[in-house]
Amino acid sequence: MILVINAGSSSIKFRLFNDSDKKNPIDILDGIAERITIGGDVSFKYEGKKYEYEVALPNHEVAIKFILDKLIELNIISNVDDISAVGFRVVHGGTISKSSIINDDVFNKIKDAVKLAPLHNPGAITAIEAVKKVMPKAELVACFDTAFHQTLAEEQYLYAVPYSWYQKYGVRKYGFHGISYQYITEKMSEVLNKPKDKLNLIVCHLGNGASIACIKNGKSFDTTMGLTPLAGVMMGTRSGDIDPSIIEYMCKQLNTDASKITNMLNKESGLLGVSGKSSDMRDVAGGYFSGDSDFKRALNKYTQVAADYIIRFANLLGHDIDAIVFTAGVGENSAHTRQFTLQKLPLLDIKLDMDKNEERNYKDYKYISAADSKIKVLAFRTNEELMICKDTISLTK
Ligand code: ADP
Repeated sequence: MILVINAGSSSIKFRLFNDSDKKNPIDILDGIAERITIGGDVSFKYEGKKYEYEVALPNHEVAIKFILDKLIELNIISNVDDISAVGFRVVHGGTISKSSIINDDVFNKIKDAVKLAPLHNPGAITAIEAVKKVMPKAELVACFDTAFHQTLAEEQYLYAVPYSWYQKYGVRKYGFHGISYQYITEKMSEVLNKPKDKLNLIVCHLGNGASIACIKNGKSFDTTMGLTPLAGVMMGTRSGDIDPSIIEYMCKQLNTDASKITNMLNKESGLLGVSGKSSDMRDVAGGYFSGDSDFKRALNKYTQVAADYIIRFANLLGHDIDAIVFTAGVGENSAHTRQFTLQKLPLLDIKLDMDKNEERNYKDYKYISAADSKIKVLAFRTNEELMICKDTISLTK
């Protein structure tokens, strides 16, 4: 079996896959350990049944040990060695260009990237250290959100700042959500029956964190996030792009320092900031239709920024766009976000099929464009855990 782990500083999302069929691993269990260090809850779903535990979890190691003990107790595995490999989601891999076995060199690079992703990488590092202790025989693989975007050309990844910032300090666009983009690109190649290296897509990964990628010939050609996941489109609580001078200006207004302002750009901006009420698109879209002007302002801004990037990426692809794809929590589920975004793209002549767009029950994907639309548009369920599992299988024994 393969265990996939997506860890934050106080949570561990985990999924267990049976990899008897290496090409089609099947997820058999899906769970989360939360409130690590401040309490402790573990819950998971297995064979349609939900298991929930309240237990003291002082650190990641105790949490992982608890999860494994439960798996043994419930006869899901007979012992820890039934899990031959563990795949980790790592947000920032610096310039590492593909999923990698976690040897000393790779682990050091993940640690080096903490300075670039101080909110994200520490959770993965703590989880990797914990798994090394609790599962000493398992092979460990890291899958990076940045790796897919290492194909960006210099004119896409450089900022117009002193070149020495890039040379000395690694200031460049890295891009994120690459595991999701890799999954969608591979799946779209199957759906459109077109070789991956001929595929041109604009993929909108709109979740709590959100980004858009321009995929040319199956490779990332440009994307909206930057040095960190704060850049690009408007998100649940993150601002996306702003005039960089705002930071110093607001430091002076609030008599505070840059890290406080950056924290506000990460946690108090986006839908939450612009509406002043909620970061959740369900609230925003619901409020929009009940006439709430705060939610209206937030959804108008959100969809305008997304549309602005889509048209920019359409320009990069010219007349050769195979499809626009919406994915992740908002992209998969919010018909109104998709509709309003597409309506702000008159140059693309997209014809939306309103009924298909609003249909809620679809399995892996659905077309939301009309049959005679110039560009195909789909809503597509991403599966980052499955992508991590597949990369883990391909890299391990
Ligand atoms: P994360 O970036 O945390 O992985 P997800 O991809 O799970 O986020 O997306 C979570 C977001 O998806 C929620 O905050 C919510 O705004 C949005 N979402 C989920 N379901 C719906 C829905 N039915 N309608 C609109 N938005 C939804």
